[in-house]
Amino acid sequence: MELKLYNTLTRRKEPFRPIDLARVRMYVCGPTVYDFAHIGNARPVIVFDVLYRLLRQLFGAEHVKYVRNITDVDDKINARAAEECPDLPLNDAIRKVTETTERQFHEDVAALGCLKPDVEPRATEHVEEMKQLVDRLIAHGCAYVAQDHALFHVAAMKDYGKLSNRSLDEMIAGARVEVAPYKRDPMDFVLWKPSAPGEPAWPSPGGIKTPGRPGWHLECSAMSWKHLGETFDIHGGGIDLVFPHHENEIAQSRCAFHTPMMAQVWMHNGFLQVEGEKMAKSAGNFVTIRDLLKEWPGEAVRLAMLQTQYRQPFNWTEAGVREAKRTLDHWYALTAEVSAGMQCADAVTALADDLNTPQAFAALHELRSAAAKGSAGAAASLRATAQLMGLLQLPANQWAAWRPDSVAIDESKVEASIAARNAARKAKNFKESDRIRDELAAMGVVLKDNKDGTTTWEVAR
Ligand SMILES: [Zn+2]
Repeated sequence: MELKLYNTLTRRKEPFRPIDLARVRMYVCGPTVYDFAHIGNARPVIVFDVLYRLLRQLFGAEHVKYVRNITDVDDKINARAAEECPDLPLNDAIRKVTETTERQFHEDVAALGCLKPDVEPRATEHVEEMKQLVDRLIAHGCAYVAQDHALFHVAAMKDYGKLSNRSLDEMIAGARVEVAPYKRDPMDFVLWKPSAPGEPAWPSPGGIKTPGRPGWHLECSAMSWKHLGETFDIHGGGIDLVFPHHENEIAQSRCAFHTPMMAQVWMHNGFLQVEGEKMAKSAGNFVTIRDLLKEWPGEAVRLAMLQTQYRQPFNWTEAGVREAKRTLDHWYALTAEVSAGMQCADAVTALADDLNTPQAFAALHELRSAAAKGSAGAAASLRATAQLMGLLQLPANQWAAWRPDSVAIDESKVEASIAARNAARKAKNFKESDRIRDELAAMGVVLKDNKDGTTTWEVAR
């Protein structure tokens, strides 16, 4: 099967050919750990998890290396640390904020059914590599030191701007380019900057005497180099990272190593909206993964997001996740008794076509119809294919037992009522069994009598 991926760099869908078949390498920009991750952060994690699973299947799990970094040097982290723990020394406060946030992020994305990357490097553990890059760039004449800053000189790179496909004039007009007295040219960007007293600081590269800290773009060039090499196969992230972040990563890596490319394929997931609006704290529609997981199972969030092909803008809606939950209820019920069978070729072909998840789901819905008519083969195939996409990962009874946090229901009381109702039905006292069912319905509990004679329940939504 041929995998085709859309490459932002060439603006084409191309057959994917790894540089080294035995070592397929992917880097994805990870979170900045200062607060709960929001659903916009969830999208690249889910999208590239689907790609990771597919790559592992196509090339063999032991031949794929997925690196996703943790940004733990950032002004937002410093601000948050000072605000949250004013009594701690700043560095201790920073460690507390980044460790807590990192743990929360791991819990959230695990609940969304995402595999761990093979390596999850932290910026603070790669400062040496970053300093080496700065020194190389200065030695190659692509960077300079001014007022204790190290800056990348954009004019030193002939084809800067190729990824975002913009001219320098457009970039200056479109981006909030910071004009600063230490810059030779407004487009030049910071590789290293001095730290104010009390801020995290490391001995500086480039002969700079004052201690300082890296600019944001530098860490991804350093960590991808350390863990994947000077050039690798796939670099991913959200579309908002194309410029300036990815453009600057390319400039740093290519000029440091004199290579014609950093990564072969650049992949970007589209923007995310919430109920048709741009998500913003100020708009009051800011949704964290943590909040969603109180209301919906992680797999429902995952399925809802994958209903849209990753390059398209995605509109998060409550109706969408409700529908996804219903779909999964059905899939779990249909596949509870079967083990995974053959994967559905149509669905896998759709995934190999630039992760066309909507097309893959269309194939799965056909399997669902066949399974509902009693085809055990279709049910087994549905299970295997959904699992390739990171769905149907739980035992069916665990899925059925999931409850939203917001519903305070005494489960032992519900179980006791179900037992009493079953006893009434056995005694053919249908008036009593109906009464109990109605009593539970009034509490928001919906009963489901299964073919095997058991009764399960869920919360009405
Ligand atoms: Zn990055």
